[in-house]
Amino acid sequence: MDFELPEELAEVQKLARDFAEKEIAPTAAKDDRQHVFRKDLVTKMGDLGFFGCLVPEDDGGNGLGFLAHALISEEIARIHSAIRVYLNMQAGPAVTIAEFGSEQQKRKFLPALLSGEVVGCFAITEPDTGSDVASMKTTATRDGNGYLLNGTKIWITNATVADAGIIFAYTDRSQRHRGMSAFYVDLNQPGVSRRELDKLGTHASPTGELTFENFRVPRERLIGQEGDGFKICMRHLNHTRLGCAAGAVGLARAARDAAVSYANQREQFGQKIGQFQMNQDLIAQMVVQEEAARLLVYRAARLADHGRPNNLEVSMAKYAGGEAAAFCTDAALKMLGAYGYSTEFPAERYYRDAKAYQIVEGSVNIQKLIIAQDALGYRNANR
Ligand SMILES: Cc1cc2nc3c(=O)[nH]c(=O)nc-3n(C[C@H](O)[C@H](O)[C@H](O)COP(=O)(O)OP(=O)(O)OC[C@H]3O[C@@H](n4cnc5c(N)ncnc54)[C@H](O)[C@@H]3O)c2cc1C
Repeated sequence: MDFELPEELAEVQKLARDFAEKEIAPTAAKDDRQHVFRKDLVTKMGDLGFFGCLVPEDDGGNGLGFLAHALISEEIARIHSAIRVYLNMQAGPAVTIAEFGSEQQKRKFLPALLSGEVVGCFAITEPDTGSDVASMKTTATRDGNGYLLNGTKIWITNATVADAGIIFAYTDRSQRHRGMSAFYVDLNQPGVSRRELDKLGTHASPTGELTFENFRVPRERLIGQEGDGFKICMRHLNHTRLGCAAGAVGLARAARDAAVSYANQREQFGQKIGQFQMNQDLIAQMVVQEEAARLLVYRAARLADHGRPNNLEVSMAKYAGGEAAAFCTDAALKMLGAYGYSTEFPAERYYRDAKAYQIVEGSVNIQKLIIAQDALGYRNANR
């Protein structure tokens, strides 16, 4: 077993690191404060090929794979976690279209998603539907040569800025999850209203509500077959969950770096605060949680790159990553004292942004449920 990154992936990592430090870091605090969506960064990330790792070259991606996508996610989240979210909003719909779309859909929809010309999103969650995806109420009713979409999606990343997105809805609710379908819709059409929602953190990544009222979806926008929606949704989540876990690792790293740097400079009682064993205890825990989560992320990514099932490993990575981000950002705030609480330093942003990693793409509890049920033999996660 070799823990060194192959040269090609080390170059990808360096490219993402340089990009994040040069293009994202200088305005990270301002972007967070002003709640701006950085479309210009979406375009630049598209130009660098950051959205194309999960899409084969034949379909217009670069086929670099899941580990490459994870490395990019990690580097960007280390500088500004909210900007990392842009990766999943482009690459998520793109990989789903690549995996389940027809040749015509791939040709028509992938180039603009991969370049960032079209801002993407995906919408599963509803006011009464969170973890229990199959309980969604949005419907797509056949009408002429297409469907009419009705329902409300909430907590949708990019809801207020997206041009297109994958929307999950029931074409036949009597079939429960076998009656769910997936559509890649053009959101710049009449019949959809948008509302922005405010939140604790991740401010440079807008979140909102999409309400569809007799929103017309042409038949050629159905991804896969009617009834494939639940399967597509689970597959999609498995991919985006991994990118999310990698982002959590990057954020944990940012918090660790802030704590270590501060501990080596701040003095109290005539010595550097890093000399105090209670602070060393925090640092040791931060280092181990972050490193362990990273290894879990890389393993899950490698499995996917070798075409092997990895649902269980992705859940472990997401669980560990979310917990590492939450622990490390909390520990950094403790170590930085009042300076951690200050909005003049990034530690408080890390702390606010970390909480999302315990909720999105399947909550901590849902990951634990998947892991425990697999261990107990109730439900094989990689079936
Ligand atoms: C910043 C942000 C961005 C988001 N972006 C998107 C997006 O782009 N697209 C999208 O579709 N959704 C998005 N979401 C929604 C997100 O996916 C959901 O919030 C998440 O799936 C959890 O659902 P919920 O919040 O309704 O919690 P609920 O499912 O209501 O859960 C509430 C609590 O109960 C626990 N719980 C639920 N079921 C179980 C169970 N069976 N066993 C044990 N515990 C359980 C949960 O872990 C949680 O602690 C976003 C959310 C946020 C905060």
